[in-house]
Amino acid sequence: MKRIGIMTSGGDAPGMNVAIRAVARKALSAGLEAYGINYGFAGLVAGDIHEFKATDLDDMVSQGGTMLYSARYPEFAQEESQLKGIEQLKKFGIDALVVIGGDGSYHGALRLTEHGYNAIGLPGTIDNDIPFTDFTIGFDTALNTAVDAIDKIRDTAKSHQRVFAVQVMGRKAADIALWAGVASGADAIIAPGFDYDVEAIANKLKKNRANGKDYGIIVIAEGDANSDAAPEFVEKLKQYGDFDARATVIGHVQRGGVPSAKDRVLASKMGAYAVELLLEGKGGLAIGILDNKVQAHNMLDLFDAKHQADDSLFQLNEDLSF
Ligand code: ATP
Repeated sequence: MKRIGIMTSGGDAPGMNVAIRAVARKALSAGLEAYGINYGFAGLVAGDIHEFKATDLDDMVSQGGTMLYSARYPEFAQEESQLKGIEQLKKFGIDALVVIGGDGSYHGALRLTEHGYNAIGLPGTIDNDIPFTDFTIGFDTALNTAVDAIDKIRDTAKSHQRVFAVQVMGRKAADIALWAGVASGADAIIAPGFDYDVEAIANKLKKNRANGKDYGIIVIAEGDANSDAAPEFVEKLKQYGDFDARATVIGHVQRGGVPSAKDRVLASKMGAYAVELLLEGKGGLAIGILDNKVQAHNMLDLFDAKHQADDSLFQLNEDLSF
């Protein structure tokens, strides 16, 4: 093996640049060449590929976003597109790849492995929704952004005795909402997989008010990208009492920003490990971290598995918020 290709694919996440740097630097220090593929599988098919020099990666350890850009390219599910991608790999002499993205991107990586080009997947998504890993690259940064925003909203909620329903990202996953809810001391968390009762939340807020806490914070997961989850909740809440309630959708700010130290270390560990696996001639594997140990799982097993959020956080928040 002489040349490794690197791409980011699917939704972007803070820490992707750190992962790119880790893969490229580890490859260079192992005497390999590293090539960046822009725009995910779309760029692979188009041949939008360039060689990395060590200096290209200088400040990537602290940069948000992805210097390789990201894209969705559903056409790559077609064999015809995959063969075009293979032609480009041949043309650029790339022998193996690291694909940084979500589980959709892993499908593309597996197709390349099946065509004889070993590919390893790194979990790059703020949603933390990938099986066989406790954390994905970008989750910690997005979580901290969300908590920082909620802390600020708390200030204004207190000043005006308001209830704020704060909507966080995560798509179908509950992780950002659960972690952000506990970390910001939310009065309630509404997240996929957890039943809730608007009237019970309204009663809790009224009880808080009677006890002297005259503002409230409800953290709401977007739940399958419903951009109106928080406004819809506010309308329902108002039916159960005289609340000065507002909705705030934190939005895409959660996808940007300087990666946290934890995400940087995670991305560095995972990126370097991916190169080690490729050097061993392995492909079709997805990297994860379980109990603080970086490890790899077969992508086929991963597709059959389901991500499990830390359910205990929901009850913990119930126990601590009154
Ligand atoms: P996120 O979780 O942020 O959405 P993702 O990687 O799951 O990231 P997708 O849009 O599902 O995002 O997939 C990213 C890209 O991976 C697709 O645009 C496509 O290029 C490729 N891809 C997805 N599914 C397949 C598939 N079945 N076969 C080949 N390639 C695929």
